[in-house]
Amino acid sequence: MTRLTQIAQQLNKIHQRIESAAQAAGRKADEIQLLAVSKTRPIEDIQSAITAGQHRFGENYLQEALEKIKALTASKCEWHFIGPCQSNKTAAIATAFHWVHSVDRLKIAQRLNDQRNSTQALNICLQVNISKEHSKAGIDPVALPDLAKAVEAMPNLRLRGLMALPAAESDFDKQRAAFAKLKALFTDLNRHGHNLDTLSMGMSNDMEAAIMEGATIVRIGTDIFGPRPSKSTID
Ligand SMILES: *Cc1c(COP(=O)(O)O)cnc(C)c1O
Repeated sequence: MTRLTQIAQQLNKIHQRIESAAQAAGRKADEIQLLAVSKTRPIEDIQSAITAGQHRFGENYLQEALEKIKALTASKCEWHFIGPCQSNKTAAIATAFHWVHSVDRLKIAQRLNDQRNSTQALNICLQVNISKEHSKAGIDPVALPDLAKAVEAMPNLRLRGLMALPAAESDFDKQRAAFAKLKALFTDLNRHGHNLDTLSMGMSNDMEAAIMEGATIVRIGTDIFGPRPSKSTID
């Protein structure tokens, strides 16, 4: 089997999983977008995914991502930055990407806003820390409303929603419980005047639970491209 056939089949399977999970949740599958997470994958794999009809890609590592974005300019992909945002990276991120899912502090948002040199606003998800014991990344839910308000006021950013990366968990109900927390924060912000439309949650191992709790973007790497080299897990 060629690599193209393999990737096309995996993408098909993911679309079927999205379809069944949406049905189980009483939702429409077209409310859920597939973000193909292509970190550590060669450009040829991304090209195969493009040939198979996928145009939305997530990357974590800036240098690697910039090379891919440049090489694939003609393919008109939508690029999402989903890795840790450090200050010294914001200029390149603000220029090269269409979305950033991992904004978790005011300083980063301000820099992205100041450095965005496009007439199109940069789409932003705020990364929330919903399982504190698991990770330091993400804003504390208590501080979320103030950050959301500040980002909302920035002209070159468009606040779209929330993102979370909960602790890996094999039990379906525990997976759901974590995503339900993010959904509750989302609902609360919208009740207080925001107009968020994006819940970025769910990966290869927990996308069904995420869709059950309202995910609108699932971020899938392994189940499209196969296992990553062991060094880089998620961060
Ligand atoms: C790597 C990564 C993913 C994809 O994880 P898989 O388990 O390979 O599907 C999703 N989101 C983020 C933030 C990641 O870093």
